[in-house]
Amino acid sequence: MAVEIEISEAAVPSARHSKVLIIGSGPAGYTAAVYAARAALAPTLIKGPQPGGQLTITTEVENWPGDASVLGPDLMARMGEQVRTAGVDVVSDMIVEVDLARTPFRAVGDGGTHYTADTIVIATGASSRWLELDSEAEYRGRGVSACATCDGFFYRGRVCAVVGGGNTAVEEALYLTNFAEKVYLIHRRDTLRADRTNQTRLHANPKIEMVWNAEVADVLGDGGGVTGVALRDTRDGTFSQLAVHGLFVAIGHDPATTLFKGQLHMDDEGYILVTHGSTATSVPGVFAAGDVQDKLFRQAVTSAGMGCMAALEAERYLAGHNARAIAADGADTGMTV
Ligand code: FAD
Ligand code: NAP
Repeated sequence: MAVEIEISEAAVPSARHSKVLIIGSGPAGYTAAVYAARAALAPTLIKGPQPGGQLTITTEVENWPGDASVLGPDLMARMGEQVRTAGVDVVSDMIVEVDLARTPFRAVGDGGTHYTADTIVIATGASSRWLELDSEAEYRGRGVSACATCDGFFYRGRVCAVVGGGNTAVEEALYLTNFAEKVYLIHRRDTLRADRTNQTRLHANPKIEMVWNAEVADVLGDGGGVTGVALRDTRDGTFSQLAVHGLFVAIGHDPATTLFKGQLHMDDEGYILVTHGSTATSVPGVFAAGDVQDKLFRQAVTSAGMGCMAALEAERYLAGHNARAIAADGADTGMTV
């Protein structure tokens, strides 16, 4: 008899079915996979276009618990190894289509592979917006960063600039004052978008100097690192230079959620909305973890924590549905019959 699930796996003949399908291989996805595997849920994890996620494009990570300093790619390689040892089905694929309207949920990889799943953990992350300057790309990781929490420590006693006028830019500038001798906040207009509390803290901080009505036209460097920025005045187009050792770009992030548009509730910027204190999305059985639903913290450890939550919540969801299936049929039919 039909229980919760309307469509059988047989309706998608070539589909690879799993109880938990995890989309993404950053800290959130890998942690969800370890927990789901240890709960005997035999998860499938799709690695996506950036195996290992954002930490694979950085150098030292100094705030991952248990490691005073670890290279981002090494940390993610270790997480990947742990996932494989736990027996997770790790697939090199990228999901290009999902259908969350019916269960089992469906997903399609870019090579045409079909996946079905009783639950899905979305851990597709987010990426920083950049100024799109060639010089910015050249010095990324060598003086140009999009994460003060990650890299601020390297600017002890030095001079930094932050570009942007929102809450992130102001918080990055405030955070940098813990290390830097001076911080310029460069904004293209003469009023900030950041909220009043942040603006009050900013203006009260003697280490921060505002540079109003200015755009970064170029990142200047000596080949080894950043030495300054060229600025263009947005009112009259004149150019000037500012000597800095580091440039932090804080002009927003884009969550990787295009796939799920129209199928899950999201905020205006495309972050997946979850129930407070949970990873549950607007579709029962679909959970979201990490940067894809978090625009405030954006850290490896918080993403991993949310991955853990998502796997535990998926396990509870499956247990609840199985219990109902047994009660209805008098036998453990499993979810997908
Ligand atoms: P991500 O790490 O963004 O992983 C997303 C995953 O989703 C990727 O594996 C990608 O392949 C996959 N994916 C995306 N789309 C699809 C799709 N369609 N199909 C299948 N898979 C898909 N945090 C710290 O705590 N400490 C640091 O020192 C630090 N340094 C950083 C330095 C840099 C340069 C950057 C960019 C970030 C840094 N961060 C740091 C932030 C940290 O990397 C992120 O908060 C964290 O990686 C987010 O983890 P996540 O699992 O949510 O997503
Ligand atoms: P944001 O609010 O969208 O602000 C982005 C800023 O970058 C804006 O000031 C914008 O300028 C500027 N900008 C955009 N593109 C630019 C470019 N190409 N060159 C120069 N400047 C550019 O982004 P955010 O600060 O990352 O915040 C995202 C969301 O998270 C917001 O809703 C924010 O309130 C929230 N958030 C909240 C907190 C908190 O509550 N403590 C902390 C962090 C983030 P203009 O102003 O001219 O458009």
